[in-house]
Amino acid sequence: MKTLSFIVLVLVSLGLAGCQGTQTDRQDNLSASDPNDGSLSARRSPLRALIVDGQNNHEVWPKSTIMMKQYLEETGFFEVDIQRTQYTWNAKRESDYLPLAGVGETTDLENPQADPDFSPAFENYDVVISNFGWKAANWPESTQRAFEAYIAAGGGFVSVHAADNSFPDWPAYNKMIGLGGWGDRSEKDGPYVYYTNEGELVRDHSPGNSGAHGPSHIFPITVRVQDHPITSGMPEVWLTTKDECYAKLRGPADNMTILATGKDISSNPPTDRHEPMLMVVDYGEGRIFHTTLAHDDYSIESVGFIVSFVRGAEWAATGKVTIPIPADFPSAEKSTSRDFKLE
Ligand SMILES: [Zn+2]
Repeated sequence: MKTLSFIVLVLVSLGLAGCQGTQTDRQDNLSASDPNDGSLSARRSPLRALIVDGQNNHEVWPKSTIMMKQYLEETGFFEVDIQRTQYTWNAKRESDYLPLAGVGETTDLENPQADPDFSPAFENYDVVISNFGWKAANWPESTQRAFEAYIAAGGGFVSVHAADNSFPDWPAYNKMIGLGGWGDRSEKDGPYVYYTNEGELVRDHSPGNSGAHGPSHIFPITVRVQDHPITSGMPEVWLTTKDECYAKLRGPADNMTILATGKDISSNPPTDRHEPMLMVVDYGEGRIFHTTLAHDDYSIESVGFIVSFVRGAEWAATGKVTIPIPADFPSAEKSTSRDFKLE
């Protein structure tokens, strides 16, 4: 009996120590500073980011995960881990990038299949980034509950491009992303939300399917909230590289702020609206940054995407942004991109 009590005591102590460690580390990220060293990266321990992926209708995903990891690490603010479902989908085109994730062997299948063992330790991270996409198989129930608890308790989340197509039947996920597309989303899921050409913000409850886009093209982004940490300092209008201008998204849109919109100026625009492109959502104590940009590698090389993504990830992790707007940021006249070179 005595031995059993001792083991229980040790386990309880370890559990408590683990919780305290996590909290302390989070505070360190926000406030620890070394008065003897003024450099940004020395002021705090790196933020811990987790990219989750494995099943996406976009074949770029093994490469785009590595691109996003590198962009985050290049800032000097992040350490990035990757967690991947054991069963992958559409991994062939960019299979050269699969081993770079350091997640071991995975199995690519013809159709998305649920991985019953996918259970990242979300609580070890300051921000989780989803590179899943349309038709991704559901995460295990226990993983869904763990993710909800992590975000509600103050975790950070970034939804990239088709991550807002994922998991249409997971109510909490739809609240986190605010707006989603495809996956049989419709008026049952919430309003369309967009800006008119006259600059009016509309919540439109009319019936209809969700999710559309014209051909990939360079289009203008209009910043709607200029005093948010993510968009602060960006020109009011800037150009993407070739990308999809997602349109007709719908969802609960609770506690959501549209930071920037896109206007499809292609030959075949699905709407004549300014559609949400960069959004922030509060979920419990958690912060979500949602970008609809990043269709393929040439879209992800866009300086506008890279900068909004790393700033959005920093904001989701800490509530603040210290990563600057670089000199090569696009303008209303000039689209800018950086050729990706693997380091
Ligand atoms: Zn796409």
